[in-house]
Amino acid sequence: MQSGRQRKLLLALLLIGAAGAAVWFAASPAEDASPDDPALAKAWYCHRCDAGFLLTPAEYEKTIARGMHPAYQSPEGGGDMTASVLIVQCPTCGGVAVAAQRCEKHGVIYDPRDGDPEKRRCPQCDPPE
Ligand SMILES: [Zn+2]
Ligand SMILES: [Zn+2]
Repeated sequence: MQSGRQRKLLLALLLIGAAGAAVWFAASPAEDASPDDPALAKAWYCHRCDAGFLLTPAEYEKTIARGMHPAYQSPEGGGDMTASVLIVQCPTCGGVAVAAQRCEKHGVIYDPRDGDPEKRRCPQCDPPE
């Protein structure tokens, strides 16, 4: 009697565990449902090419990392740790491209952390006097 109840309890716990695992497995791939969706694309800027570009999560996930912003790298190689940014490999030159911003109005991609303050915004928005 005693062992029978214990077995039922164990079975119930196993079922709960299995159901939980099934829910967990079913839920996790849903987070990146369509990583190739252009609507999810992020803007990047390559300072070697001097050009911005868009990559979908499926494209940037292969090379995404945290690294030093090229504009803040000191000649000694130490660098400023506060300038650590998301980086990817530039598909054009293979160099380092940094996370950038895209102007919703003009579609211009610019680097808000550019070493040159003049380039930290969309050149077509609010032109300087
Ligand atoms: Zn490049
Ligand atoms: Zn603009």
